[in-house]
Amino acid sequence: MAHVKDTNVLTKFTELGLDKALLKALSDEGYEKPTPIQAQAIPGVMAGKDLLGIAQTGTGKTAAFALPILHRLAADRQAAPRRGCRVLVLSPTRELATQIAESFKAYGKHLGVSVAVIFGGVKYGGQMRAMAPGVDVLVATPGRLLDHLQEKTITLQGVEMFVLDEADQMLDMGFIVPIRQIVKHLPRVRQNLFFSATMPSEIEKLAGELLRPNPTKVSVTPQATTVERIKQQVIFIEATRKRALLCELFAEKDFKRVIVFTRTKRGADRVAKSLEAAGVNAAAIHGDKSQGQRERALAAFKAGDVRALVATDIAARGIDIDAVSHVVQYELPNVPEAYVHRIGRTARAGADGSAVAFCADDERGLLKDIQKVTRQTIPSFDRRNDRGLSVMTKAMPELAAEKPERADRGQRKPEGRSDLPPGLRKQRRRKPKAQAQGGDRRPEAQPHSQRHADHRGGKQAGESFRGPKRGKAAPAAEKRWSPLD
Ligand code: AMP
Repeated sequence: MAHVKDTNVLTKFTELGLDKALLKALSDEGYEKPTPIQAQAIPGVMAGKDLLGIAQTGTGKTAAFALPILHRLAADRQAAPRRGCRVLVLSPTRELATQIAESFKAYGKHLGVSVAVIFGGVKYGGQMRAMAPGVDVLVATPGRLLDHLQEKTITLQGVEMFVLDEADQMLDMGFIVPIRQIVKHLPRVRQNLFFSATMPSEIEKLAGELLRPNPTKVSVTPQATTVERIKQQVIFIEATRKRALLCELFAEKDFKRVIVFTRTKRGADRVAKSLEAAGVNAAAIHGDKSQGQRERALAAFKAGDVRALVATDIAARGIDIDAVSHVVQYELPNVPEAYVHRIGRTARAGADGSAVAFCADDERGLLKDIQKVTRQTIPSFDRRNDRGLSVMTKAMPELAAEKPERADRGQRKPEGRSDLPPGLRKQRRRKPKAQAQGGDRRPEAQPHSQRHADHRGGKQAGESFRGPKRGKAAPAAEKRWSPLD
């Protein structure tokens, strides 16, 4: 298997031999040179090879597959079959599907390619009309596409190129079975492009089934390591004081355009409300919001009218908004890889970014898993027993009275299922390791002395992410926590 390592390739787009109409579109977009994944992936895909790409969003991977695909379409112009397409791209979420379709349209605008996008949660009629004459490129989420295939309103018999994007997220969302069913509708002879941010064994197996022998292998981020430009911090905090801490962060002017992640849809709504109550313009996006609500929230956030976008993982996946100054993880994710995806919402397109994660006592196990998977120790600060936050929390009586989410709650009702047909709603969610192995995930017991210690300021917890040792009073404040740059 050809394996190309992450290097700073300085190739120009003109050196890649792309169609002139594409080069013109790239110059319209203001792209000067290919990103590493583009430089590495484009030649092989242009030559018709299969591709295995290990890359997360933010690396330019959409153009890495869209450009050579468009080049191949331009080199061999043919009409797409009725109700069919020449290129099929599968994406886990509606937002990502929409963005991929927009990228195809932007890069292919001087070629006159037709692009359709298909996802759940909206009526079928418009999608059937869009597909009736056949399109060059179809971008779809698996559940709704399968519905169309079962109803024979779409055919995949004319597919020449197949892209599976964000395969690991597909696994998390239970889409592996639908994908295998969709693949049965594809012609045997085709070009396959397979992208995933991480390579768990099930994804490796799927890649082995889908790709022809000897694909080009491109890896721009080592497996599950976090983007280096992002400044990361963890803050230890009582679950009941997270709201006060969040409001404190937003008092900083440099928290300009912030995505706040919660584990549940209900949590996202509550956090957005509490920010609004504190005078911070906020909007929530999650699977219960209509497509129109999501689009309006995203547009307001992009325009800078909304300072905080509060989102669940699935709703936020694939959001491509430049200049996100900070990512706040109000709750840690149950799946460690999601930590990497979340912080990847900032530091896009070469910018720097900052990520702050709140960690309550019952989330220590999750933090441990995250540090193990990302092979790093995240600098941490201890803000438990902070008097200022306690006072602030008491000044928010209606919020303080609410019960915090437990660390395992989010697993019970995963979201984003609306585009799966009822028969396919069975979940295929990865359990956190300790739980999957029957391990104990209870939070570490907190010493009595620590619960009552008054930290006035924050303590930098340094390398260790365990609390002070049992029986010992919490050490005095060493360094006051300060907002990230
Ligand atoms: P992606 O990883 O495909 O989600 O792309 C991340 C962002 O980088 C998007 O906003 C793209 O428009 C942008 N981008 C992709 N390729 C380039 C490039 N060669 N030069 C500058 N920006 C790019």
